Amino acid sequence: MSAREWIGKDFYRELGVSSEASQDEIKKSYRKLARENHPDANPGNTEAETKFKSVSEAYGVLSDPAKRKEYDEARQLFGAGAGAGGFNFPGGGGSGTFDVNDLFGQGAAGNAGGFGGLGDILGGLFGRRGGAAGATTSTRAQRGADVETDVRIDFAEAVKGATLPLRLSSPATCKTCGGNGAKPGTSPRTCPVCQGSGLVSRSQGAFAFSEPCRECRGRGKIIDDPCPECHGEGISTQTRTLTVRVPAGVDDNQRIRLAGQGEPGRGGAAAGDLYVRVHVNPHKVFGRSGNDLTITVPVSFAELTLGATITVPTLEGRVSVKVPPATNNGRVLRVRGKGIAKRDGSTGDLLVTLQVAVPSKLDGSEKEALEAFAEASAKHDPRPEITEMLKER
Ligand SMILES: [Zn+2]
Ligand SMILES: [Zn+2]
Repeated sequence: MSAREWIGKDFYRELGVSSEASQDEIKKSYRKLARENHPDANPGNTEAETKFKSVSEAYGVLSDPAKRKEYDEARQLFGAGAGAGGFNFPGGGGSGTFDVNDLFGQGAAGNAGGFGGLGDILGGLFGRRGGAAGATTSTRAQRGADVETDVRIDFAEAVKGATLPLRLSSPATCKTCGGNGAKPGTSPRTCPVCQGSGLVSRSQGAFAFSEPCRECRGRGKIIDDPCPECHGEGISTQTRTLTVRVPAGVDDNQRIRLAGQGEPGRGGAAAGDLYVRVHVNPHKVFGRSGNDLTITVPVSFAELTLGATITVPTLEGRVSVKVPPATNNGRVLRVRGKGIAKRDGSTGDLLVTLQVAVPSKLDGSEKEALEAFAEASAKHDPRPEITEMLKER
């Protein structure tokens, strides 16, 4: 059976820091331990050599916020220290020689048995650089952040859909240098120390270690004349005008996602997404309940009592609505298919709420007629249940 590297995986313990340690603390601790255990300072001391290897490996993970996060998540899932039982990697041969590069490049393949989803997690953690050997600059790649912005549109625009120009000031690929960070007319040169990989390997006896290249700060490229606009970052604040298509039927407070329109990624990674939150101005007559359009229509007592046909506005025009005789105040009549059409093909209804309008003033003949009605209808008690209750007191 071939020997395997079984690695007790407490990177925090290796570096002698707590799991809450800041990046600065981690760096400080790593530097101290690396200096103390450096093979140059401890010739022939295998214990120091092993320790040096461990701290380099731990630092390789914990110094990268993305890797550290995945590592923390893996630890949480399997319990801190579960790693002592063995996260195993196939990288090491019987000689005990392994290269950190191999380790990170092969994680997913080596976790076949026994750990279920662990392979996936470590695949994410260590497989980051999977693919072409030497494509190491992508270790520094980081997806751009998502950005959210707001737009305000009118009710009718929300119902029918709209195309809006959107002005945005946000970090974007620097136009002056095209994102490479170098002053126009110059270009970044490949780091001569790491040959563009961003990592340097050091061999000590049977061991090979990788650490971020100091010359280029792990970027793989050196910029002699930084771009005056972005100071070499390749990203600057830009005002952009985007066209946003608001789909028909959008609701107040809904978000529209524009993939890839967020902050640009670093190191060639994908840009984040832009989320546009839509605020809809209320309409002076119409309201909305999901796909249904709502409207409150004042009606007279006579219309409710005798029945009537009333004309009601819709989004597009008008519609006749029949009020049956003896309709109560507040009743909601449904007009099918006159609501809000969504892009999925569904259309809501128009909901008409009838609300009795009491005349504020009556002229002589109106008053006379109403008094005659009151007299004639005195035999109908409008509130029999209340009358019944009152008799008992
Ligand atoms: Zn620039
Ligand atoms: Zn370099």
